Amino acid sequence: METIAKLFAQSGDDAYFGEPVTQLEHALQCAQLAEKAGADNETVVAAFLHDIGHLLPPELANGYMDGYGTVDHERLGADFLRERGFSEKVAQLIEHHVNAKRYLVFKNPKYFARLSEASLKTLEFQGGPMTREEAADFEINPYFNGILQLRTWDEQAKIPGLSTPDTDYYLSIAEKTRSL
Ligand code: FE
Repeated sequence: METIAKLFAQSGDDAYFGEPVTQLEHALQCAQLAEKAGADNETVVAAFLHDIGHLLPPELANGYMDGYGTVDHERLGADFLRERGFSEKVAQLIEHHVNAKRYLVFKNPKYFARLSEASLKTLEFQGGPMTREEAADFEINPYFNGILQLRTWDEQAKIPGLSTPDTDYYLSIAEKTRSL
């Protein structure tokens, strides 16, 4: 928990790529949306930590950096949390939050038109829309619904100046879900 608190303290003020909020504001808002939707603790924690991969120092990110953050930040973040005793549910919700975008773009052309500019830019090097086969595989993921929910909160968590609970509040929920 200390490590995670430190990552937010070090990099939480970074801009959330091309959006009007910081990384920390984005994380807190995302967690709050999950909580307000009545999500379970693991889902709230996944919402809070879904972009943790962006906050990891470059030596952990293997140099996969560019102007829009760490490529594969979702896998990095998920593995980082798995190694620290977070559940497979937390890890998978995080690991697939980019796939959710790729899935929705495949499934629904209207969704594509609604994506923010930053989100469209990243879609390219995240692999573009899913193929039909990828989408079929994705739909049988046991956490499919939660993954799509997280995506909707992720997209809404960009409101400048919104008041939310603080980092410690969500870290204490995170601690409760951890098994190490
Ligand atoms: Fe995000």
